[in-house]
Amino acid sequence: MIQKIKGTMDILPEQTPLFRYIEQVMREEAEKYGFGEIRTPTFENTALFVRGVGDTTDVVQKEMYTFADRDENRSISLRPEGTASVVRALLENGRHVGAMPQKFYYIINCFRHEAPQAGRSREFFQFGTETFGAAAPAADANAIGLAAAVFRRLGLTSVRLHLNSIGCAECRPAYRKALTEYYGAHIGELCDTCHTRLAQNPLRLLDCKNPSCAALASAAPRTVDYLCPACREHFETLCSLLDAMGISYTVDPSIVRGLDYYTRTVFEFIAEGIAAQSTVCGGGRYDGLVESLGGPSLPGIGFAMGLTRVIMAMEQAGTASVALPHPRLYIAPLCPAAVPTAYALAERLRAAGSSCECDMMDRSLKAQMKYAGKIGAEYTLILGEEEIASGRAQLRNMREGTQEEVALEGFTLPC
Ligand code: ATP
Ligand code: MG
Repeated sequence: MIQKIKGTMDILPEQTPLFRYIEQVMREEAEKYGFGEIRTPTFENTALFVRGVGDTTDVVQKEMYTFADRDENRSISLRPEGTASVVRALLENGRHVGAMPQKFYYIINCFRHEAPQAGRSREFFQFGTETFGAAAPAADANAIGLAAAVFRRLGLTSVRLHLNSIGCAECRPAYRKALTEYYGAHIGELCDTCHTRLAQNPLRLLDCKNPSCAALASAAPRTVDYLCPACREHFETLCSLLDAMGISYTVDPSIVRGLDYYTRTVFEFIAEGIAAQSTVCGGGRYDGLVESLGGPSLPGIGFAMGLTRVIMAMEQAGTASVALPHPRLYIAPLCPAAVPTAYALAERLRAAGSSCECDMMDRSLKAQMKYAGKIGAEYTLILGEEEIASGRAQLRNMREGTQEEVALEGFTLPC
């Protein structure tokens, strides 16, 4: 038997209602905050991600699903994240010259070839938002406010916001120098990957999950101590906006984010204890990204939230149960002659808005009633030759165990 690819999942009918509920909350909240839904292709030119995500990142170097297009000799990749595609769509559709700010949200599947574990899969689902054209800290607060609102509505009161600023091109050189000196003095304790990172992009060392590197990171120089006056003011204004909005946070110098394009604000929402992977949402400001993808200099801020990790947090918080859909009526035809009447009635009731199931296996009444109970039908209606001849049948209320005679002509379900 052929099995599913490692790190992918089947979401079965018992599980989709929870996904759909969460997605609905995300859509409703995003639209309340003024974001419009965007849908972009599942695959793009590999170059988009190389430039948009950064060619020194693990995502680009090790994790992308990349292949040659069949009819043109070009490299294509399945999207490992959503931001680069949204920037491309912004530019390609001329939205960068439209009214600002431009605000988008999406719920997408993403693909990364990483080691599957709890909360980490190779196909996963993200709710993300991007805001373009707004440089002020208010845009950061609006995005963070949306993420916090989603967690609040899903009952995730113990998810904590960790906030940091990693500065801009102006603050970076002094910080890089301090970081390179610090790690240079501890070079023997670094993992192999971090040895390379130290020369290429020392900021990424702070993000390493290797225990010995992580221990070093906790005592490393902090970006917040190296901010230029403008970045400092941006960060302080954002903090006071969050205070005013009633959103609590912890300033956490260890938050640097794995992707290369971030500037100033970076943040993660962490659901402590759900698994080794406890970051349910990550985001930040990326003021250089639009330009690096060939557009004008246009500031941006966004985040992405992982749906499976949100579900793990909801399971932990005890808010993950949603009602499964069930039919209002099950119609049990007793003989082949009753089947057309049963199906005609079912069609009429569905057209009027009721969910209705009807036997399709020529089963005995006993088997049909057992099935009706199993699918949680609210009512059942039994149709035999006698009922069809008299135009009257017994409607059984399955919850209360009561029965009443109804006329088939013009029959509608009780509200
Ligand atoms: P991490 O390495 O901590 O999993 P990341 O920095 O690679 O996260 P982002 O690219 O910022 O994550 O993605 C945003 C969110 O998407 C994460 O916070 C997480 O909730 C989710 N996510 C990322 N990768 C995966 C994955 N492989 N499986 C499931 N969810 C993921
Ligand atoms: Mg990752």
